[in-house]
Amino acid sequence: MIKYTLPRGTQDILPDKAIKKEYVLFVLKNVADFFGFNEIQTPVFENTEVFTRSVGEASDIVNKEMYTFLDRGNRSITLRPEGTAGIIRAFVENKLYATADLPYKVYYSYDVFRYERPQAGRYRQLNQFGIESIGTNSLYHDAEVILEMYHSLNELGIRDFYFKINNIGDEGCRSKYKLALKEYFANYLSDLCSDCKIRYEKNPLRILDCKIDSSKDYFKKAPKISDFLSDDSKKYFKNLLDILDEYQVNYEIDDSLVRGLDYYSETVFEVHVKSEEQDYGAIGGGGRYNNLVSDLGGPQLSSIGYSFGIERIILIMETQNLFDGIKNEILAYVMPLENTTSSYAFQVAMYLRFNQISTDIDFSGKSIKSLFKIADRKNAKYIILIGNDEMISNTVTIKNNATKEQVTIPVADLLDFFANDLIKEDNNENHHHDSKCSCHDNGNDNDHECTCDGDECECDENDNHHCSCHNH
Ligand code: AMP
Repeated sequence: MIKYTLPRGTQDILPDKAIKKEYVLFVLKNVADFFGFNEIQTPVFENTEVFTRSVGEASDIVNKEMYTFLDRGNRSITLRPEGTAGIIRAFVENKLYATADLPYKVYYSYDVFRYERPQAGRYRQLNQFGIESIGTNSLYHDAEVILEMYHSLNELGIRDFYFKINNIGDEGCRSKYKLALKEYFANYLSDLCSDCKIRYEKNPLRILDCKIDSSKDYFKKAPKISDFLSDDSKKYFKNLLDILDEYQVNYEIDDSLVRGLDYYSETVFEVHVKSEEQDYGAIGGGGRYNNLVSDLGGPQLSSIGYSFGIERIILIMETQNLFDGIKNEILAYVMPLENTTSSYAFQVAMYLRFNQISTDIDFSGKSIKSLFKIADRKNAKYIILIGNDEMISNTVTIKNNATKEQVTIPVADLLDFFANDLIKEDNNENHHHDSKCSCHDNGNDNDHECTCDGDECECDENDNHHCSCHNH
């Protein structure tokens, strides 16, 4: 019998994982929003030249990893292997350089496709969340993009992350550097892997991020870009690092960091996560790109952006137990207790759903014991029991699945019941968030009136009457 299986390097994202992904993207989109970025969406596939022209003929992505095919009209089409090129294509095609306010600030959440060798945390279809600030030379936008990334990771609660950062200069610096690399690696040409031999000819910079050769001893002694930077690039780099220092961003300068795509210049960076026990590698990276807009037919405009690998972020957050409380749940689980009550139970369930109460129902006729187990697995907050008595009297019996308290109420009171419950929930939520309670000084130092009615609300007089609530 034929077995149908996933294509290599892809994964099914089942609901337990999908909710984690949704949460991560929710937080990332929120932060991007705080920083003034708007969402953009471009096609999943582009004409192949968009990537060969921008990502670069010498890059691994273009050489080995693209999903490229001829469509039925004989056009060469490529599934996007990264987000930036398509966005810049859209920016140029829509003439946004002439009509939009610059920098044009957008974020995206894209599935991208790379024919890589699958392993833990490496897929052929992966999700990247990224931001782009298009059309700016300002150093402050480099800082803004890096700090946006930094703030996002803090908001997600990720621990042990740090930036690797480098400046790879402008084209002038890089062409001198490339010559020096060529001269240096000429001595080791026979020892380089077959890909590096090609990189040596096409773009020797790419040799530095070879996954096979880079641990070799003579790599460590290769010339460093820092020795080829112009005074302007050095100053730019120093000023950027000064800003990052002000915000206490944890970074290390890595002068072998060049990044895998051809379009970068000046600032490049990656975020890595490394704890005492484990090095998780890069969870995101980005940099400044000066020629991409002009390469794709627009004016000469410099830009900066980054992308996160969402699968890797989820993996790390799972290891660091950062998904506590993030689960699929429902408010009500309806149990018809007899066959005869199915129709009435169905109407109750539909009534709740049409009134924004998340509800599920079971018609399998399973035993009550099994239904309670299902309700637990569905994380149902309330169970609605419907037997003949309830049907005849137009009532329902609601059981709180945590406290096991139960009441029988008319169907007509159901929405009020849930509304009260949600208000209670909301109040509890408010008590969790310091910012939602505020204190009014009544003129008497010992008499503060708190807008939050929690008994355990504490007001710190030494801290500008900052309230903190412990009333859960
Ligand atoms: P890049 O576009 O290559 O700079 O990648 C940005 C981020 O995407 C990386 O730091 C990884 O976290 C993630 N990433 C890149 N390639 C893969 C892959 N094949 N599978 C999963 N995540 C990836």
